[in-house]
Parts: sequence; C-alpha cells; structure tokens
Amino acid sequence: MLDQTQVERLEAEAVNSAKVRQPMYAARKKIFPKRASGSFRQFKWLVMAVTLGIYYLTPWLRWDRGPFAPDQAVLLDVANRRFYFFFIEIWPQEFYYVAGLLVMAGVGLFLITSTVGRAWCGYTCPQTVWVDLFLVVERAIEGDRNARIKLDAGPWTPRKLVLRVSKHAIWLVIGALTGGAWIFYFADAPTLLGELFTGTAAPVAYITVAVLTATTYTFGGLMREQVCTYMCPWPRIQAAMLDESSLTVTYNDWRGEPRSRHAKKVQAAGQPVGDCVDCNACVAVCPMGIDIRDGQQLECITCALCIDACDGVMDKLGKERGLISYATLSDYNANMMLATAGGASSVNPALVRTDDGLFSDRLAHFHIRKIFRPRTYVYMAMWSLIGLGLLFSLLTRDRLEINVLHDRNPQFVTLSDGSIRNGYTVKLLNMIPEPRTIIVTLGGLPGAEMSIVGVDLPADRSFAVQVEPDRLKMLKVFVRLPADQINREAQTFTFRVEDKVSFESNEYTATFNAPEIAR
Ligand code: SF4
Ligand code: SF4
Repeated sequence: MLDQTQVERLEAEAVNSAKVRQPMYAARKKIFPKRASGSFRQFKWLVMAVTLGIYYLTPWLRWDRGPFAPDQAVLLDVANRRFYFFFIEIWPQEFYYVAGLLVMAGVGLFLITSTVGRAWCGYTCPQTVWVDLFLVVERAIEGDRNARIKLDAGPWTPRKLVLRVSKHAIWLVIGALTGGAWIFYFADAPTLLGELFTGTAAPVAYITVAVLTATTYTFGGLMREQVCTYMCPWPRIQAAMLDESSLTVTYNDWRGEPRSRHAKKVQAAGQPVGDCVDCNACVAVCPMGIDIRDGQQLECITCALCIDACDGVMDKLGKERGLISYATLSDYNANMMLATAGGASSVNPALVRTDDGLFSDRLAHFHIRKIFRPRTYVYMAMWSLIGLGLLFSLLTRDRLEINVLHDRNPQFVTLSDGSIRNGYTVKLLNMIPEPRTIIVTLGGLPGAEMSIVGVDLPADRSFAVQVEPDRLKMLKVFVRLPADQINREAQTFTFRVEDKVSFESNEYTATFNAPEIAR
C-alpha cells in the first residue's frame, strides 16, 4: 500500500480548465491521453472489437437466396433498388421498415441516455471507436503519454520523422479500409474488391473510398475530441434527456474534497481532508482532455476511463474504489447534503464516514430499480411497440402484389359490335427470388373478358403469366364488356392474382367505365 505522497503526480491540466480558460477562437490544445487499464477499459476493448468486427466483416458474410438473387447477407443493391438483410428483402415501397428501424434507433438512444447517460458516446459511437483505434496505433508507434509529449515538443529528427510518417501512413490505411468496407455494402464484395484492384470499378467507388479515407483520417486522427465538442449536436441534445436519476460519470467530491497530496500533514493540523490525492491520473487518461473534478461538462463522453484511473490509485492507497463513479444526480446531491451537514458547511468527508473510518450507512447508492421510472417505461413501451409492429408487418407482408393503372385517355372505347373496352396497365410484383406462374383472373363484371397484349391467346377471364424471380412484370390488359351487360357508367371489378404453388394471392379493385348512352 502506498502513502499519498508516493502516488505519481502527473503533469496534466484540463484543456478547458477554468484557471486557463481559453479565448473562444484559441488554437487547439493537444491532448495526449495516457493508456488506462481497468474493467471499463476492458469493456471498451470488447465493444471496439465487436463493433469494428461487425463493420469490416459483415459485407463478406454470405446468405444463400437461390440462383436468382445475390448471396451477400447484407446488401444495399441501389442499382436494382433492393435492400437485402439476411432472410429479409426490402423493396423500395417497403422502405418504411428502414424508417421504422431508424425511429427505433432514435427512441433506443433516448432510452439509453435517460438511463446511463452518454453511453452511446463513450462506447459505441463510431467517432469514439475510431479515435480509440487511432490512439492504439499512435501509442504503439510513439509510446504512451510522456513519450508522445516529449516527441511532440522535441525538434524534428530522423527518428521523429520516421515515427510520424509511419503513424500517419497507418492511419491512412485504416481510413482506406474503412472507406473500402463501406462500399462493399453496396455491391458484391468479392467482385468489387477485384474490380477495385484492377481499376475496373465504377468511378463513384473510388471517389467514395477517397472521401471516406479523408474523413476517417481527419476526424479520427487529426480532429479527435473536437468532433465531439464542436461538430456533434448530440452533447447539446442529450442535456434534455438526462434527469436526476440518469447515471453519469461523477467525481464524488463529498468524499474527495478537500483534495491534498499531504493528507497526513493536513489531518495533523486538524483540517478535514478528502480521498483525492490530486495525482491527475484521471485527467491524464481523459481522451477529451478534461478534469472530471470540475463537475459535469459538455465535453465528457462518459467513457469511464477516469474511473479506471482513479480506482487504480485508490487500490494503491488501500481506499475504497469509486471516488469517481457512475452516479445519479439525486444520489450525489443526497451525499453532498450529508458531507456538508445539510449545506451548512463546506465539504467535510469525515461526515460521510463512521468513527472507524467506514462509509456511513446513510450514504445513497445507485440501485437498478432507479432505472425503472415513468420516463424509461414510456421509452421502453414506445420502442417495443414499434418493434412489434414492424415484426408483425414483416411476418405478414405480401410477397405477391398487383397494382393497376386505368388508361386515362381514352377512358373507354366503343367497338364496332357496340361493346365497350377499357385499357389497364397491370403490374405484377413477384417479390421472391424464384420464378412464378401467376394466374390473373377477372372477378365480378359478369360477361366481361380480358385480353393481354403480347399474349397470343383468345380473350378469357383468366390467364397464366410467367414472372421472373424478384421482378415486376408489366402487362397491357384490355377488358371488354358486351353492350347488353352495361348497366352503369362506372362498375367496379377485381383483378385477382394467385400463385397456385404457394397459394399466395392478392387482388386489386378497378373501375370499368362506360359512356352515358350505354345505360
Ligand atoms: S471525464 Fe472521464 S468519463 Fe468524461 S471523457 Fe474524460 S475520461 Fe471519459
Ligand atoms: S480523482 Fe482520483 S485520479 Fe483524479 S486526481 Fe483525485 S485521486 Fe487522482
């Protein structure tokens, strides 16, 4: 166990510290985050591996849809206007599923933020994940915080040049791989990869890779925390979603203050002293370059690395972990009231401990039931209802559809025998990746017959039509009604389509128009 004075004190100062508050348009102050270790860091490594793995590998997953559809599991086939997601195929008119998923993502983000604060920002946001990845490269090449500060401040030497060129070259490769992976979602990945290397891919593919390489390199390597602080709207929006029961990374100054590196001396002088030994480890690991001890800040992405750093220090000192912890504002306020004797004095950490030095039973702690409150119930209900609605709609949706357009000009034609003929454009949608024989039948309109342009068969009330897999077939159809059957100016009837193999069917109600004199 170490004494307070033996804990290494890091020369780290928050970039937004009130003491050195910068003018509004000051140049960026460089941040050199120290490597953190601890359970949150481990969890972040795991999230990083999973999210990057999903992003880079998904286009290479195959999914057998038979010989008439692409075998890429996730594919945005813009050319053919289809979206494939494993066993789900979405046609353009079904894009409301994607809209529904986006709404679910939004509500899910509200739910997460209202319960565990900016967990999205701290763990899964692409900006956070890629900055983490770029920092891994930077540390591997230039070393940890102190080495990087020294290198940055030092003159340009051959060594510095080699290190910097290597780092930026690897960052650019990561950027190119990121852009490359993105375009694989829009075409068959193995084919497109070959085309990219042989120079036969479409120009838009090269342009997309170039743009994404540049943006990934710039945002992840050069701008880093500035993207979160200045460009992203989410830190501003999230303030409206947090309430006093939301978990946020909190410096518990009710036990940390007054901070001192010389606790024994201060105690000997009869002064109160908190658990914070002012080692700056929490500041040094912060990727946003802030000091959590200054309180809640817009810049804090709640990555919890300062918790890991401080827990490490507390372990060395033989003190309880959690000087920096996830806490709710209501718990924090309750504990502050305890430490300040109801607000009557400045913080006295002795007030939160018993005579034998243990934490008082009166301290407020987070309990999982605090997550369940009216606001989160509403978010959960909304999220579940939208999800169930989408699922139900997906499971019961039609895979055989018919759309009919009545000819507008002319609306009807009177034939030489006095019968009336109407023309229609009938669209048959075979939405499965297999060819089908669709039976098109006329329903209602007694005495009527139809003929299909290009089908060399006599007029009838029913036709078998071949439709290619996953395709729309357009038919020009004429419906003729003998004069003695016409009793109204407009009569409704149905076009019915049926697949005799799967027994799937659908129908469309159309109108048959006739002249007034035919009444
Ligand atoms: S203050 Fe802590 S939680 Fe917030 S960004 Fe910095 S290290 Fe992450
Ligand atoms: S909060 Fe913890 S890590 Fe930060 S300065 Fe105090 S003791 Fe060190």
